[in-house]
Amino acid sequence: MVLLLWNIAVNTMQMRIGGTETGAMAGKVLDVRNPATGEIIESVPSGTGDDVGSAVGAAGDACGTWGKKTPRERGTILFHAAQRVREQHKDLARLLTMEQGKPLKEALDEVRGFANILEFYAGLSSHSSGEAIRLGAVGDGIVIREPLGVCGAIIPWNMPVLIMGWKIGPALLAGNTMVLKPASTTPLTCLKLAAILDRAGLPPGVLNVITGPGEEVGEAIIRHQAIKKISFTGDTATGEKIRKLGSLNQKELVLELGGSDPMIVMDDADLRTAVEGAIRGRFYNAGQTCTAVKRLYVHEKIADHFTRELKDRVEALTVGNGLGAKVDMGPLNSAGQRERIAVMVESVRSADEGTIVTGGCEMRGKTFENGNFYRPTLVAGVEPESRLVTEEVFGPVLPVMTIPDLATAIREANNTRYGLGASIWTRDIGNVRRFFDEVHAGIVWVNRHLTVPPEVPFGGVNASGIGRENGQDALDGYSRTKTLLLGW
Ligand code: NDP
Repeated sequence: MVLLLWNIAVNTMQMRIGGTETGAMAGKVLDVRNPATGEIIESVPSGTGDDVGSAVGAAGDACGTWGKKTPRERGTILFHAAQRVREQHKDLARLLTMEQGKPLKEALDEVRGFANILEFYAGLSSHSSGEAIRLGAVGDGIVIREPLGVCGAIIPWNMPVLIMGWKIGPALLAGNTMVLKPASTTPLTCLKLAAILDRAGLPPGVLNVITGPGEEVGEAIIRHQAIKKISFTGDTATGEKIRKLGSLNQKELVLELGGSDPMIVMDDADLRTAVEGAIRGRFYNAGQTCTAVKRLYVHEKIADHFTRELKDRVEALTVGNGLGAKVDMGPLNSAGQRERIAVMVESVRSADEGTIVTGGCEMRGKTFENGNFYRPTLVAGVEPESRLVTEEVFGPVLPVMTIPDLATAIREANNTRYGLGASIWTRDIGNVRRFFDEVHAGIVWVNRHLTVPPEVPFGGVNASGIGRENGQDALDGYSRTKTLLLGW
């Protein structure tokens, strides 16, 4: 019912400060558009630095009570919230598709993934308190973990729900409070989730969500002296700006930035599985995933056959409004993102840096005229200096290159400033061992790509960022140790 109303009248969904809904102090709003239709589905307040100040104040006030709860008490609230998210997962997924564009089946995965993350961290609550050390004649040491205080989170639009989970799960379980800024094109599901967490028992002020432009709200979060740690996911250039600003006021930083993940297919790979892996790895979420397959290297013995199979599968993908049944790929999240992709493909075409096997243009026809659709694209024989190889391609374009052997594959895989994920498709354990040892990446998959369960640490090397999210690592990163030495 609520969703129907949104189509008739545009509401303004409010920010959340101190557990209550509020508009922006300046009274301005940001419109949120459906990327499949161009329609405004809702507005949100365009927050300011003053709003960030209020949110940090509320988060600071909540620190004492939240930090003093036991990990098990905090974990119980996360469990309750996860349960409520599961109860409402269909409505949440629909909203996510409407603001982000991804097919409903992917949005459902993402919302369930959010619940999985909360449950995973809640499950760690009995293991997160500290340790005791016997020190012989010196005495005994007791090491406890205490929260950092108020933390800041800035999240992108590609996987807003999952990434919100990655940031709030460990931070809140460790006893911190948080000020979170969603991306301006995808704030709605994040606001709904924050309301669910509040209703599940999160005390007022523990999680505050401020909507508004990155340059204003995002930078105010980074500059605020009372915020101890920032976790950011987004563009490498924005991350670099944040690194400079954040280190000026000595904040701890986790930066999850871009990636240009290589996928290597050796000549002994199971080809059907590898073709499906490349399709999912590249075209899931219309290619807008940090760990998407962004460069595909196929062994020259199988390259022709592989590329033909891939072409058939790419052409069989159904593109459309993510709410439609049987849609495999939705629009890009914004007109700007589609433009970026179109410009990159044009640069390859005009410099003759590869052969466009299929796609290479916007989707045409009435269904697509107001949305940000781009045709799934395969480009073969791409030159190493092409922008499709040297930059992060955040859309449905897959460059394919051939390699004669593993040594060349590894050299090409490492020939990038990024280092987020990498995959190898082979049945030879020797290939796996060598690739794992030599490739520069935070995560290496074998015969799969993309999946990042909450249990495993996630993050990159080089221009892909600093720090880790997920797993026990992230939880440890949201606390510091304090030691009591007892002399007897
Ligand atoms: P941004 O890095 O600009 O956006 C990510 C988040 O940062 C958003 O919440 C944004 O807010 C916020 N932000 C923007 N500027 C600042 C700032 N100066 N200080 C603090 N926060 C800021 O990415 P874009 O949306 O511009 O996407 C550009 C490219 O970045 C993509 O094409 C892709 O290559 C890459 N990207 C990579 C992601 C990944 O997961 N690795 C995720 C998203 C993008 P607002 O929305 O209000 O601008």
